[in-house]
Amino acid sequence: MRDNDCIFCKIANGEIPAATVYEDADFRVILDLSPASKGHALILPKEHYENLFELDDEIAAKVLLVAKKITFKMKEILKCDGYNLVQNNGEVAGQTVNHFHLHLIPRYEGDHVGIQWNPGTLSEEVKEEILSKLQ
Ligand code: AMP
Ligand code: ZN
Repeated sequence: MRDNDCIFCKIANGEIPAATVYEDADFRVILDLSPASKGHALILPKEHYENLFELDDEIAAKVLLVAKKITFKMKEILKCDGYNLVQNNGEVAGQTVNHFHLHLIPRYEGDHVGIQWNPGTLSEEVKEEILSKLQ
């Protein structure tokens, strides 16, 4: 299914041009227009899934294989020192485009890419609450 109002549907299916670094039957990988670092790319499924919770299982399994392939190749080209894979779901999590996408963000020694959080402490109470609810 595609969404006629979705910009990433249009980009993924070639209706709006984008800097494509990889394409296959299921995905297009493009360079982000507002990159966090040199080489920041986005993996877009060609079908419309709003987020991870809607993602088809087969596409979900394939997306990490694409990520592995592209980061391996880009690492050679860019000579970066590391990589972050980021995937936002929901406005509160920073999702601004409601078509599933996986960010591939190259990292360079001394860069100022701010992917971080303030580490908390796992309490016994919270640990027990979560583990008991999972049973
Ligand atoms: P998110 O905040 O996880 O939803 O990420 C959306 C990403 O899409 C941002 O990093 C934007 O810079 C990027 N983006 C939005 N529109 C375009 C576009 N037309 N071409 C390339 N990247 C885009
Ligand atoms: Zn879409």
